[in-house]
Amino acid sequence: MSFSQQVISEIMDGVTKRNPGEPTFHQAVMEVLESLEPVIEKHPEYADILHRIVEPERQIIFRVPWVDDNGRLQVNRGFRVQFNSAIGPYKGGLRFHPSVNVGIIKFLGFEQIFKNSLTGLPIGGGKGGSDFDPKGKSDAEVMRFCQSFMTELFRHIGADVDVPAGDIGVGGREIGYLYGQYKRLTGVYHGVLTGKGLSYGGSLTRTEATGYGLVYFLEEMLKENGQDLANKTVVVSGSGNVAIYAAEKARQLGARVVAMSDSNGYIFDADGINLATIKQLKEIERQRIKAYVERHPSAEYHEGPKGIWSIKCDIALPCATQNEIDEESASQLVANGVKFVAEGANMPSTPEAIKVFQDNRIPFGPAKASNAGGVATSALEMSQNSMRCSWTFEEVDAKLKGIMINIYRETSRVAREYGCEDNLVAGANIAGFLKVADAMMAQGI
Ligand code: GLU
Repeated sequence: MSFSQQVISEIMDGVTKRNPGEPTFHQAVMEVLESLEPVIEKHPEYADILHRIVEPERQIIFRVPWVDDNGRLQVNRGFRVQFNSAIGPYKGGLRFHPSVNVGIIKFLGFEQIFKNSLTGLPIGGGKGGSDFDPKGKSDAEVMRFCQSFMTELFRHIGADVDVPAGDIGVGGREIGYLYGQYKRLTGVYHGVLTGKGLSYGGSLTRTEATGYGLVYFLEEMLKENGQDLANKTVVVSGSGNVAIYAAEKARQLGARVVAMSDSNGYIFDADGINLATIKQLKEIERQRIKAYVERHPSAEYHEGPKGIWSIKCDIALPCATQNEIDEESASQLVANGVKFVAEGANMPSTPEAIKVFQDNRIPFGPAKASNAGGVATSALEMSQNSMRCSWTFEEVDAKLKGIMINIYRETSRVAREYGCEDNLVAGANIAGFLKVADAMMAQGI
């Protein structure tokens, strides 16, 4: 066993023992550690940093009691994992979904450390959320839940301490209720959450940022291979904020988006998905995607989200949730001639799926790099809040594009430097790690 393999196996042993029953967190750590092998061989002094970086600086778990519309008490669990503050205040979204537990939040917080580092902006890694399900709840219930959630969270966050934002289940509505409660409790008007409404400190382009950023990254990937988006057939899983704006930007650049999905099933529209309908259904009416076919009868709806990966396409953009592409789905995509894959969701491809893409030499953009546009624009929102100013849509969009191009170039450059040519997974993990590791080293134990 080489020195680096020994270090990795020791660390993985500790991680599995200290975090039992958290397979998604183990998966995220393993992927990063494996990529770091060449770094540890070259710089053995980083081994100690690795032992520290896999342990969150702080984990907060709290009770969230609230009263539903029938006057009954409901109790949920709230989480905030403040993973790493070496390069800036903790930064990362809040996820409200029934599947949320401490392992899921830890996996997301861990990913966030490296993603945030890749943006080149001074933000550390954190993540939070709750097992609360906003689906099917009234606005009043969501408001009472958000107020109760913030009644505990407010004491742990701050504009220079920890700045949450949205993720699955947390959009503009939830951020508004959370922000209102923070302000009520503290009496201060800080940029303590990002993704705020435009009338109270939000940034233009933040809504579009993750999806647009993904496509800017993809564009760069295509360019490197002498191609562009014109006339490409694209499949985008999901129909939330990331998926909608990835589809919108892909279409603006000449691609045809033929399929989208939600957790129940997927739609296929050979003419190209009508995004105005998706926005109406998902952002305004809060409906299931199945309703799309009532408005576009020539489209098809199929039960089960996984079937979306059986559709023939040039480009696959998984923008729904973790581990949505497994080995079988990846093999199906490859057999049907997929040419590029870039991740919009966090860790949507299993390790086996990534191996299928890499073995078949399909250029693959890992989430840490390709979906960093959301959090990067959150950092731009923080800057505008501190400066008490608002940049125009074009200004923020241009900065976002510059950041994504830079992330692509840096990721592929570092991959080459460490002998992992064309492996953007390794490039993203190594580039993200080095900056945080150097800061941790400089700051002492
Ligand atoms: N939830 C997003 C992510 O996974 C954005 C986080 C943020 O803006 O802080 O990166």
